[in-house]
Amino acid sequence: MFENYIGQVFDNRYRIEKVIGVGGMAVVFEAYDSVMRRTVAVKMLKDEIAHDTQSVKRFINESKAVAMLSHPNIVKIYDVSVKENRKYIVMERVEGITLKNYLNKKGTLGMREMLQYTEQILLALEHAHSKGVVHRDIKPQNILLLKNGVIKVTDFGIAKLPNAETVTMTDKAIGTVYYISPEQASGKKVDRRSDIYSLGVLMYEMCTGKLPFVADSPVSVALMHVNNQPQRPSEIVPSIPKGLEQIILAAMEKRPDKRIQSASQMMRLLDKVKKNPDLVFKTKKEPGEITKLDMSLKKSRTAAQQKVNRSMFPIIAGVTCAFLIVASVTMIYMVQQLLTENTAYSTVEVEQLVGQTWSDALNARLTAQGYHLNPEFVNSTQSENTIIEQSIPAGQRKKIEVGKTYIDIDVKVSLGMKAIVLDDYYNVRSNEAISALRELGLIVRDENIKKQASNEVPTNFVISTEPAAGSIVHEGDVITLIVSGGEAFTQVTIVQYVGMTEEKAKEEVEKLGLKKVTYEYELSGEEDKGKVIRQDVPPTSEVVAQTTTLTLTIGTGPEDSDQAT
Ligand code: ADP
Ligand code: MG
Repeated sequence: MFENYIGQVFDNRYRIEKVIGVGGMAVVFEAYDSVMRRTVAVKMLKDEIAHDTQSVKRFINESKAVAMLSHPNIVKIYDVSVKENRKYIVMERVEGITLKNYLNKKGTLGMREMLQYTEQILLALEHAHSKGVVHRDIKPQNILLLKNGVIKVTDFGIAKLPNAETVTMTDKAIGTVYYISPEQASGKKVDRRSDIYSLGVLMYEMCTGKLPFVADSPVSVALMHVNNQPQRPSEIVPSIPKGLEQIILAAMEKRPDKRIQSASQMMRLLDKVKKNPDLVFKTKKEPGEITKLDMSLKKSRTAAQQKVNRSMFPIIAGVTCAFLIVASVTMIYMVQQLLTENTAYSTVEVEQLVGQTWSDALNARLTAQGYHLNPEFVNSTQSENTIIEQSIPAGQRKKIEVGKTYIDIDVKVSLGMKAIVLDDYYNVRSNEAISALRELGLIVRDENIKKQASNEVPTNFVISTEPAAGSIVHEGDVITLIVSGGEAFTQVTIVQYVGMTEEKAKEEVEKLGLKKVTYEYELSGEEDKGKVIRQDVPPTSEVVAQTTTLTLTIGTGPEDSDQAT
């Protein structure tokens, strides 16, 4: 049915040669690009889907997502054409087979080979994640394997872009649920850790030759991802190194926060196993859970904690000093009493301590009067050193033997609000920052999260805080987070530059907001001197202004006219 396209030339440029693959929503052709004189892959929306707005959106999304990326393990995009009657993406032609086909043929892969592919997929993911792009459909059908062992990840079709709307499970183009993360299966928010999960499933499959969850309906499979524990890989293939199994299971943790958190973390873990296949990771047993790899995942939190501890040090030191002073004053008093040997009974009325300020002077006075105070220092909203509780209420009468018996009173003394040195949350995922701040007793409400466009910080990662990092704040203080809303992308239509003067062309380029334009100079006829003679993106192409590269070639006139001047 796609055969009618063979022999056609798209946009005067791409001659369709043959079908190479058919996916859920698109057909991929091999084609010849007559301008660049190279073989390319043209991915075209299937006719029956070309009118479905969801799929078209997904398709355009793919081109934008991948246009942002540039990595040897990600299929390169050369051109995008989204005209009304025909929508296609021109990509690097990868001479290889899908990892799916390869696995079908080979069954299981040895550890060395499996790691070789996994590492390359991780490099691709690390790059995409660093740009804020989550793949969301990692599966062997979307991974191409070249003859020389190089891996290329393709089909960023449902990749989530900074700013893009959430693509949901209802998207009919999502084919298989065998690799879907629990959060994706249950329609929750998905982040880069979802790709880690899917990769965990793929690793499971590569080393056991089996999928962890299989059932007779997609819904049942999705539910198993949410609820069931997979069989251990080593129960299927006993030779799997224990450390590798631990990594696979840690990547497949149901809860994203318990999972391996990033591609780079996973790479470090795999590296350890590669260097030492007998390695067994220390684990933390958690009740009712699978064991958790004992690797510090939350660097930012640990750093925050350390700073807090440091900031608490003066307080602790102060408290210790106060104890020593009280103790010594008491001793002096007792010695005096013993020396005078003056025993007398008296009745005293317990005084109002709540509201008084805890000080050395107060202590000395009370001790002399026969009180014995046991202070407990606590954080509270009352100002520092205020006594906020007393165990015997004021006004109660007590009989004491002067110098021999004391009135023992427990008091609580306020430390004020806990002082916290704000950590630097720059480039930390906003929900991680929010939970870290809340755990410290700081307040971050929804209205304290402000979005700001940024070209440096990926979407939903923190740009800064108010107060700024390093400020001393107190428990209960409100913190405002400035969070990246991602870059602003604009779609523009390329115009015909050929024939324009260089100056005019530069003006037009500026107008469109194209950010990556190169000017090249080339000998030409006298009539083309100072004019654009070639452009590598054809007129009417719809492209993303911020990421598209355009080369304009300007004529310099014939050589000898140059020498004459
Ligand atoms: P879909 O979005 O419809 O799933 P894919 O991008 O996954 O489409 O492509 C479908 C199939 O086409 C792939 O499984 C692969 O076999 C083949 N394919 C895709 N891109 C390329 C490419 N750049 N070079 C060679 N083959 C490709
Ligand atoms: Mg696909």
